[in-house]
Amino acid sequence: MENKSPSGDTITFLGTAGARFMVLKQLTASGGLWLNLSGTEILVDPGPGSIVQSTKRKLRAEKLSAIILSHRHLDHSADVNIMAEAMTQGGFKRHGWLFAPADALESEPVIFSYLKSYLEGIEILKEGKSYSVGNISFTTPIQHIHPVETYGMLFRAAGHTFAYVADSRYFDGLCHSYGSELLIINVVFLEANYQIDHLSVPDAKHIITELKPKVAILTHFGMTMWQTKPWEIAQGLSQQTGLRVLAARDGMRFDLSQLNNY
Ligand SMILES: [Zn+2]
Repeated sequence: MENKSPSGDTITFLGTAGARFMVLKQLTASGGLWLNLSGTEILVDPGPGSIVQSTKRKLRAEKLSAIILSHRHLDHSADVNIMAEAMTQGGFKRHGWLFAPADALESEPVIFSYLKSYLEGIEILKEGKSYSVGNISFTTPIQHIHPVETYGMLFRAAGHTFAYVADSRYFDGLCHSYGSELLIINVVFLEANYQIDHLSVPDAKHIITELKPKVAILTHFGMTMWQTKPWEIAQGLSQQTGLRVLAARDGMRFDLSQLNNY
């Protein structure tokens, strides 16, 4: 028997594309993650097409309690304006929160000023801080190494913990910060690439081996990942680590109750 709570506790992948070329060509979608946990819905990193992907999947923006941006890069924030507009029903209903690092809101804000007044408020993400929205709480344990101010998130909801390891160069702080039952990791490169501040498959393998989550899900694929078939890469990592590693697919819905099986 499936052990399902009435609301369902799910993470929907509205895209799996990472970095420029995958996103520019829309080889896979880039709409972010839609969380529905204990009845609270949150959109994380609404990249280009988030409005298209969410409406196509019958997810209703007016039900969102918040939008969270890990950082200001376009593949994570391009649709923040339209999604804020949708969350507030075109501005007719003041509603919902925006969470973002300070540099996404300062000299060249990613959100139009007129939309800010539609929101209940804006919270600035900072290293080591905790936040709560509805029935979900999360922390941004550590600032990532990336060209702009970037945070991943460690969520606690629906009796489970899961981490979203957003864009970063590898550093040991990632392994110290994201211990949880489920790890979602943005893995752009197949091979280590020390010129660019993104994770690679060897980095992901190291993080997964260190943190031993019940399930790890790879997403945010760059071109080299896509050409090598992420699901085969995930299968290889499962064999090498002895842990359950999956590759996200566009539209994939992960039910947190699955974590009870491991
Ligand atoms: Zn980035």
